[in-house]
Amino acid sequence: MAVAKDVVKQRRTSSRRKKDVIPFFKSVSIYFNRAANHLLKEYPAGLLKQIRECNAVYSFHFPLRRDDGNIEVVHAYRVEHSHHRLPTKGGIRFSELVDQDEVEALAALMTFKCAIVHVPFGGAKGGVKINPRNYSVTELERITRRYTTQLLHKHFIGPAVDVPAPDYGTGEREMAWIADTYMMLTGGSDINALACVTGKPINQGGVRGRREATGLGVYYGLREALRDTDLLKRYGILPGIEGKTVIVQGFGNVGYHAAKFIQEGGGIIVGIIEYDGAIYNPKGLDVEDVQRWRQETGSITGYPKAKTYKNGNRLLTFPCDILVPAALENQITVENAEYVQAKIIAEAANGPVTSQAEEILEKRGILIIPDLYLNAGGVTVSYFEWLKNISHIRFGRMGKRFDEAVNTRLVDSIERLVGKQFSQIERNLLIRGAEEQDLVYSGLEETMIFAYHEIKSYWNANPEIENFRTAAYVSGIDKVALAYMQLGVFP
Ligand code: GLU
Repeated sequence: MAVAKDVVKQRRTSSRRKKDVIPFFKSVSIYFNRAANHLLKEYPAGLLKQIRECNAVYSFHFPLRRDDGNIEVVHAYRVEHSHHRLPTKGGIRFSELVDQDEVEALAALMTFKCAIVHVPFGGAKGGVKINPRNYSVTELERITRRYTTQLLHKHFIGPAVDVPAPDYGTGEREMAWIADTYMMLTGGSDINALACVTGKPINQGGVRGRREATGLGVYYGLREALRDTDLLKRYGILPGIEGKTVIVQGFGNVGYHAAKFIQEGGGIIVGIIEYDGAIYNPKGLDVEDVQRWRQETGSITGYPKAKTYKNGNRLLTFPCDILVPAALENQITVENAEYVQAKIIAEAANGPVTSQAEEILEKRGILIIPDLYLNAGGVTVSYFEWLKNISHIRFGRMGKRFDEAVNTRLVDSIERLVGKQFSQIERNLLIRGAEEQDLVYSGLEETMIFAYHEIKSYWNANPEIENFRTAAYVSGIDKVALAYMQLGVFP
C-alpha cells in the first residue's frame, strides 16, 4: 500500500522533476562551506576559499571521424581541482550529461575523497560528452586516444602529473588505450609510464581487486557504520547489515559489486534500478542470478523472479532499510526526498543527493553515508595500482613463499607439541601466504575502517558538526588546508 501511495504522490510532482536541482558544483560548495565554517578558527578564510575552487580547467573540442566517414565534434574536459599533492587523480566519464559544472564538482569531490582516505593525491576529473552506447568500439578507441593526446599536449596527464581512472561509462578497456597512447607518445622515455592511468586490465599493469574496489569499499564503509552503535542510536537504526533490505540504483561496476558484497554480508537485495527499468522482489533477489540474466538478455528488466518497473526510479521511494544510489548525481532531490522510505542512504555514486534534498532527509531522520567517504574504495585501490606500477613489482611477490615457510614450521611445531594433526584444510588455511588480492583487500578494509573512525573523531571533537557528511568534509578539508599551510603560498 505504501508503495502505491508514494508512486501517486511522485507522479503528481513528476512534471516539475529536476527543476529544483541546483548546479552540482554549487551543491558541493554548499557542503564545503558548511564544513569550512567549523575550520575558521584554524585556517584563514581566504585559504579555505582557495581550497574550494578548481585550480585548472581544460575544456576542448576535437574532431572524430565516424566509421561511416562523417566528422563529428566531441566536447571534452579535464579539471584539476587541487595541486596540494601531486599527481592529481580522478576518473574519466563518458556520458551525455557531462558539462563543465559536473566535471568541476566531481574533481572537487576527488580532492576531499583522497584526503579522507589518506591517498596522497590532489583531486581531478575528466569527462567526454558522448553516450558511449551510440559509438562502435573502434570509434570509442579513437575518441579515447585523441582525448589522451590532447591531455598530454597540455600537460594534463602523467604518472607524476595527473592520473585518470575509470568512471561512469569507461572501464579497463579505455584505461589500456590511454596507457598505450601515453607510452606511444612519450616514446619509452618514462620508465613509470604505466602509472599514467589506473584501472587497467591486470595484464597491462592493473592490480587485482581494482575492478571490485569501489563496491567492496562501499560494503566495508556501510558495515562499519552499521557497527557504530553510538551513531545508529541517534538515528534509531538497529546495528548489523544482516537481514537489512536494500535497493541499489545502478548495476554497473559499482552497483553490481556493492550489491554482491552486501548480499554476501547478509543484506537482502530487494530492488535493482537500471537506466532502462527496475526489478523488485520484497523477498530478495540473487545478485549473481540477475547478473546472468542481464548477460543473456542485455537488460535486468524482465527478470522472471521479480516484478519489472519501466520507470525504474520509482523504486527510490520503495520500502527498504538501505538505499544505495550507485549511478549518477542528482537522483534524490527535493522532488522525491520526502517519499524516500529507507533509513540509510549509502552514497556509492558521486553526488546522488542534492544539498536541498539532504535538508529534507536530515529532518526526516534518515542517515546519509556520504559519497566522499563511502565510494573512496576505488581511488584507494587506484593508489595501490599506481604504487605497483612505480615499484614495478606485484604485491606479495617477495614475501608470500617466505611467510608460507615460516607458517609451515610454526604449524609443524604446534603439531609436534600437542601430538595432534590439523586437517589438510585447516593446515592450508594456516600456512597460506598473502597474494596480491589478499593484500589489496586488506589494505582497502584498513583504509575504510581507519577513515571512518577518523571522521567520527572529528565529529566527536566538535558536536556542532551537523551530520556525517559535514564531518567527512571537515576531515578532508583539514588535511588539505594543513598541507597548504605547511607548503606556504607561492608568490
Ligand atoms: N572514478 C572513481 C571515483 O570517482 C575512481 C577514481 C580513481 O580511481 O582515480 O572515485
